[in-house]
Amino acid sequence: MLFALQHRGQESAGIVWTEGGAHKVDRRLGMVSGAADAWLSGTAASTGGIGHVRYSTAGGGGIRNAQPLAVECSKGSVALAHNGNISNSAALRAALTREGAIFQSSSDSELILHLISRSRARGIEAILRDALAPLEGAYSLCMLWGDTLAAVRDPWGFRPLHIAEKDGVRYVASETCALHALGPSISQREILPGEVVLVDEDGERSFFLPPAPRRARCVFELIYFARPDSRVFGESVHAARERFGEALAERDDVEADLVVPVPDSGNLAALGYARRAGIPFEFGITRNHYAGRSFILPTRAEREFAVRMKLHPVPEIVGGRRVVLVDDSLVRGTTSRLIVGLLKEAGAREVHLRLSAPELTGPCGYGIDIPDRSELISNRMNPGQIARHVGADTVRFLTTDLLKSRLAEPSEYCYACFDGDYPCPIRNGEGKDATCP
Ligand code: AMP
Repeated sequence: MLFALQHRGQESAGIVWTEGGAHKVDRRLGMVSGAADAWLSGTAASTGGIGHVRYSTAGGGGIRNAQPLAVECSKGSVALAHNGNISNSAALRAALTREGAIFQSSSDSELILHLISRSRARGIEAILRDALAPLEGAYSLCMLWGDTLAAVRDPWGFRPLHIAEKDGVRYVASETCALHALGPSISQREILPGEVVLVDEDGERSFFLPPAPRRARCVFELIYFARPDSRVFGESVHAARERFGEALAERDDVEADLVVPVPDSGNLAALGYARRAGIPFEFGITRNHYAGRSFILPTRAEREFAVRMKLHPVPEIVGGRRVVLVDDSLVRGTTSRLIVGLLKEAGAREVHLRLSAPELTGPCGYGIDIPDRSELISNRMNPGQIARHVGADTVRFLTTDLLKSRLAEPSEYCYACFDGDYPCPIRNGEGKDATCP
């Protein structure tokens, strides 16, 4: 299952499992494959386990922040895997620290374990109700509590979470692609916003946390983050991306010979665009699958070098042609500038850049890695200026309204990184407004 979720995080991977009445932990930096030999050859008899792949959005990388986190506390052995960001974490952390709490990591997830340990409530259900009450923001959680499994989805429903059953065993995962990895006959459902599912030897039961003022599914899961063979928020990711591409084409009158995706992030939107525009689709750029991620490298020079290592135009395809280049999103503009340059070097006559996300104008705060406002190119330039900056003939974005028109339940989503309407305030400041729960 973790292999199937590798795209959600490549910095560290870890598992915690029960063995002989205790929790065992194995966390490593790097990809799942680095740990796979040890994990797959393990012979421990275990009744339960949880795992995590991490990319850092809050708290930085490093083995200290690798998950699952595992502690011995007043409530026994508790291990936690967290997807999302707690948006009032700085305030809560400052309040806990003032009261003497000691933090081992800089990740916001550790907060949750402190809140559980400090709770005076009794029984897992009451403790979770009490401990999770002060949290704001995004938290899809898998917890191993003794040998009980607890799966939690925050009341806003920011991040996806699913549960499946096969041969009497329960499986929980962020995306359905991980559940499909278990075989075709698996019965599964979405864990609902605010739902807490407990699984122990008596079976499965669930209860609900108090509702949030609104729902806030992350639309960027559909645009970019989730794997296309997954369903998240009841939508096929594959089909949604094609629809976003179609929507882009509907408002476009550009004359071109070819539609070319930036692989792999632009593949499906480009397919939808090409079909709707009636322009042939070609893989005019080859991706080297052995090159690492460019987006998270710290300096611009490193990111540019990484893009050059990864993406290679095919001169026979793009030479002399007018190309519509489709990617999902423009963040800093680094990738597009290089790719447009490479396409022109390879002989493309015109390059028209199309993005299947609206203009990114704000950071996320709920678990997607988006740099500071000042680094976002759409905060500094309009599409005409961006076109000149990246060397494209024209640039166009999907609008938020068009994006919404392609979703089954548009009012259930968060669009904060595009429209600035943040469902929970992002309080990463001094934390003065927090009271200790
Ligand atoms: P940039 O080169 O900074 O404009 O980044 C745009 C590229 O990064 C696009 O190809 C996106 O698919 C990809 N991208 C967008 N958001 C993220 C993210 N949060 N993490 C990693 N890659 C991303």
